[in-house]
Amino acid sequence: MSKKTKHIVHEYADKKQQNSSRTIRFAVLLVILAISTTIGILHQKIRTANVDQLCPFGAVESAYAWFRNGSFLPKIALSSFILMLFVLLVTLLFKRAFCGLFCPMGTLQEIFEKIGKLIFKKRYHVKDTLDRPLRWGKIIVLLVFVIMSWVTGQLVIRPYDPWATFHHLTSADLFSEFIIGFIILIITLLLSAFYSRVFCKYLCPLGGFLSLLSPFGFYRISRDDKTCINCKACDKVCPMNIDVSVTQEVTDIECIGCNECIHICPVKECLVIQTKNKSRLTTNGVLTIVLVLFIVITGIFTLTGQFKWIQGTLVQQSQESQEKNVTLSPDNITGQMTFQEVSEAFNIPMEAFKVAFSFSVEEETIPFKTLKETKEYETEQVREFVKQYLKSIQEP
Ligand code: SF4
Ligand code: SF4
Ligand code: SF4
Repeated sequence: MSKKTKHIVHEYADKKQQNSSRTIRFAVLLVILAISTTIGILHQKIRTANVDQLCPFGAVESAYAWFRNGSFLPKIALSSFILMLFVLLVTLLFKRAFCGLFCPMGTLQEIFEKIGKLIFKKRYHVKDTLDRPLRWGKIIVLLVFVIMSWVTGQLVIRPYDPWATFHHLTSADLFSEFIIGFIILIITLLLSAFYSRVFCKYLCPLGGFLSLLSPFGFYRISRDDKTCINCKACDKVCPMNIDVSVTQEVTDIECIGCNECIHICPVKECLVIQTKNKSRLTTNGVLTIVLVLFIVITGIFTLTGQFKWIQGTLVQQSQESQEKNVTLSPDNITGQMTFQEVSEAFNIPMEAFKVAFSFSVEEETIPFKTLKETKEYETEQVREFVKQYLKSIQEP
């Protein structure tokens, strides 16, 4: 079917194909969210990698410690750096497509956006004069948390992180460790029902980091001015409030590469993904490349043993630290560990723990998380005790 406007023949886009690409994208996002949520829930029960080890932003926070002495911040592992490698490759190819085609925190917001659209049938729009200055928020958050992490050597962002909080929704530590993160998560999801990607736009430090790298991406969305019918459907669907209909190329660093503008454009090939020398890819092609990159990169490092989906025991971690000539941090103690494990890994006599915490011989091998139900101490107190103990034996 074709239609004549401005003396140009417009071929309509294949609506069925567009809808199917849209559905495939959202289905992939849901699967990624489901897998990461399952790992988060399992981490409360068994020793799967924790949420911080599965977040690429940990690599930015840990970069200084890694370059300086080859160690990571507490709770971070090499997996964060491997995931960052994946994110950087995606960004080099497709700008912020990690945000639009992979990130589960973005998907959570999209789910609430869809629910909001169904219930309220209305979306709000923040005026550019307020919206654009507010977007600097994520750069400020990025700078503040990276500098604080580099200076203190601690994962400072953890209690404020809505994604880490989401992984601890079923944890007994939710309100003791993540109360601020919980508030940010709830506000983000509620606002998402009325306004798209509120956390991505204003607060996410990883989004801020990727927006700075976005100009280096090879592929970009181009609009054919000759065939565009100026329907503005692309502007309306854009979750990042980008005026696609007035740009020749989407170079806005806020573009998250979700490709929803392409999926909605009624004119065939009016919006396309291409490099400067016009090498084109379909939206499904981009999604496939992103997924293949993830599978190949994590697959290779899983096979070489560097990407650990299951955490080793504290004793194994202690041995690995010794091999690397770094000190095992008491921050690696988690709720699934026991007094026996901690005593062995840090070489602290069990009697020292017994004086500070009261427990029976049987309770030496019961995880702190379980002990917490009957005892008055938390895992954090065990960590603190180990820190103080190690400090006291180092002092002359
Ligand atoms: S901006 Fe942050 S939360 Fe949003 S999709 Fe990107 S990385 Fe995920
Ligand atoms: S411009 Fe298109 S690809 Fe970029 S965020 Fe908006 S809808 Fe998504
Ligand atoms: S959706 Fe956007 S690019 Fe496509 S025809 Fe309408 S205004 Fe032009």
